[in-house]
Amino acid sequence: MEILRGNYESYPPHQLLKDNCAIILNDQNIAELRSVLAALFGPAGQSLLYAIGKMYGIYSYKRMLNSSTQSSLKIIEQIFRLKQEEGWGNIEICLENDELKNVVIKNSFESRYYYRTGKLTQGEKTSSNNLSEDPITQPQCFFLKGFLEGILSFNLQKNIHLNEIECIAAGYEKCIFLPKC
Ligand SMILES: [Zn+2]
Repeated sequence: MEILRGNYESYPPHQLLKDNCAIILNDQNIAELRSVLAALFGPAGQSLLYAIGKMYGIYSYKRMLNSSTQSSLKIIEQIFRLKQEEGWGNIEICLENDELKNVVIKNSFESRYYYRTGKLTQGEKTSSNNLSEDPITQPQCFFLKGFLEGILSFNLQKNIHLNEIECIAAGYEKCIFLPKC
């Protein structure tokens, strides 16, 4: 077995799995984890996901920056490409003259389980006192919102705050994030 060194994020997922350096959490596992967070902490569980995502975005970007000679924009593209290989979804950012216009995620790992089932898990319903079978109407990509904010804030050297305006969990075709003014 090869011993992987340095930045794990630069290795393709099959290599990480082969060398016992990663695990797979499927969409249902993630929905269950979210359900536990919601049951324990209520809406604060969403804030936890967001905060974890943001720190992870910053760490990811710093690790890539330390092990790369590429331009900062290329580093972001590299991170997004690796995340796509890991099944996170297809992330695209739109910049105009260094100004962030939007971020689009197709097939978000965080919401596609809800997209398929059309409902939140019981823990999440209970936490928000929403016991009806109404379809989801609010965006659900809290971790990814934090992840994107962490990476983009570090890259653009200013605080970026995003608003998810469309989400596949709420029945849209893709997840769209706009910068808050
Ligand atoms: Zn979403």
